[in-house]
Amino acid sequence: MQVVWFKRDLRVVDHAALACAAQAGPVLPLYVVEPDLWQQPDASPRHWGFIAQTLAELREELGRLGQPLVVRQGAVVDILEGLTRQGALSALWSHEETGNGWTFRRDQQVAAWCRDKGVPWHELQNHGVWRRLQSRDGWATRWDRLMAQPCASAPHLAPVESVPGPIPTARDLCLGSDHCPGRQTGGRRAGQERLESFLQQRGEQYQRAMSSPVEGVSACSRLSPYLAWGAVSMREVTQANEARRRALPPANKTWRKSLRSFSGRLHWHCHFIQKLEDEPRVEFENLHRLYDDLRPRTPDVARLEAWEKGETGYPFLDACMRSLQATGWLNFRMRAMLMAVASYHLWLDWRAPGLHLARMFTDYEPGIHWSQVQMQSGTTGINTVRIYNPVKQGFDQDPTGTFIRTWLPELAQIPDQYLHEPWAADNAAEVIGHDYPERIFDHMAAAKAAREKIWEVRHRPEFRAQAEAIVIKHASRKNRSRRKATAPKRSDQLSLPFGETS
Ligand SMILES: Cc1cc2nc3c(=O)[nH]c(=O)nc-3n(C[C@H](O)[C@H](O)[C@H](O)COP(=O)(O)OP(=O)(O)OC[C@H]3O[C@@H](n4cnc5c(N)ncnc54)[C@H](O)[C@@H]3O)c2cc1C
Repeated sequence: MQVVWFKRDLRVVDHAALACAAQAGPVLPLYVVEPDLWQQPDASPRHWGFIAQTLAELREELGRLGQPLVVRQGAVVDILEGLTRQGALSALWSHEETGNGWTFRRDQQVAAWCRDKGVPWHELQNHGVWRRLQSRDGWATRWDRLMAQPCASAPHLAPVESVPGPIPTARDLCLGSDHCPGRQTGGRRAGQERLESFLQQRGEQYQRAMSSPVEGVSACSRLSPYLAWGAVSMREVTQANEARRRALPPANKTWRKSLRSFSGRLHWHCHFIQKLEDEPRVEFENLHRLYDDLRPRTPDVARLEAWEKGETGYPFLDACMRSLQATGWLNFRMRAMLMAVASYHLWLDWRAPGLHLARMFTDYEPGIHWSQVQMQSGTTGINTVRIYNPVKQGFDQDPTGTFIRTWLPELAQIPDQYLHEPWAADNAAEVIGHDYPERIFDHMAAAKAAREKIWEVRHRPEFRAQAEAIVIKHASRKNRSRRKATAPKRSDQLSLPFGETS
């Protein structure tokens, strides 16, 4: 029996492992719910809620192909051992997962078990991330080529003798409570609907509106959880985007710009995951080691909690956190601002805030997440230091205060003109410190202090050599088609890859 082990690839279309396994013989499609994984500090009930819905649909789809999904609970090696005892395992198939440290170690155990038992394990590529990549030169061209290849169709599956097994609830997994009424619905159908509605209607204003948390809710694709858990494939999305671009009349500049910009983001997805694939320590250690002693490793609990609860006293910042708690999603710029405030204004080491955000994002994707967390905290050493001003961002991105009013009802008494700075309102004393907290930092002073500390490190003589090495290993190569791709001279050219800022 060919066992196809589903992980972050919960679909039947464009699934290389499933297609190849089906050619080799009867297939047992398997998902293993691993209790230890769900006890990790980056796991949350909203992730499981999304996955459970996706699994239910995957089970139906596989059933239509001939053999429904089998779900088992326990350590993967134990489940595989059980299948071997039943004489039911001749080869294991999966995708090449770039997961967190826990799944990396688990995969090493699975590999050792397979070697020991003489079971071949075929790991196939899931998207544009390469194992054992020697160099980033030519990466984007390779990515384009891979994405242009045809999608594997869903194979016919012969039924095999199997007990389907229940899909557990978050409570079964002791995942605790997590109120997220606005979480995106899991499953491939919902993902396809999002793709279609984005490319046909919602995406027209993408480039203009993506940075606003109000407009971004509908102007962004909202595909991230479907890509993160594999309900839709990167190749499907890329090909649908290219087909739409080709079909557009040349004069339609707004759509064209938006879809080009979207295409850049799809590259970013894999570009960032590639960093974790190449250097798994990105999840745990500062990419640039000169930052190691900069911030205290033990978080200031009171500051961290105020940030996590959206109670910092800065309305726009708090509104972003509250909306994230309630929906599981936030646009890119506001994610970057939350992280930057934690790292610069609150001077917290990125690990604890990063874990909180990982649990809050329904689309938690370790490769993108930890690379971005470090980038927004300034610890990569190769990106521009970007300290977002939470008051200015509010004025820029929520000029009418709609977003703040939605998420901070306790500011109802504050007049519109003071909504971004309620401490300046005539009635401030009635609201601040009672319904809404005092500011826990002075944003101008905190930003200045942080900038000085960061630049002190960047100006050290030994800073540059390490930064150059990081650039060579991880940075995107600009103007890739025209210029021979080599390490750029100045590391600050690399703040955002693939030609755009967001
Ligand atoms: C601190 C921080 C943490 C993040 N953590 C995650 C995460 O865990 N999972 C995740 O999918 N994205 C993460 N992002 C990237 C980005 O914010 C989200 O991908 C995006 O907001 C998802 O919404 P969307 O699908 O509507 O994106 P769109 O703007 O419609 O983009 C389409 C797709 O492109 C990819 N993409 C877009 N922006 C980025 C980016 N900056 N970097 C890498 N890929 C990108 C995503 O797969 C996204 O679904 C993080 C960003 C920051 C600043």
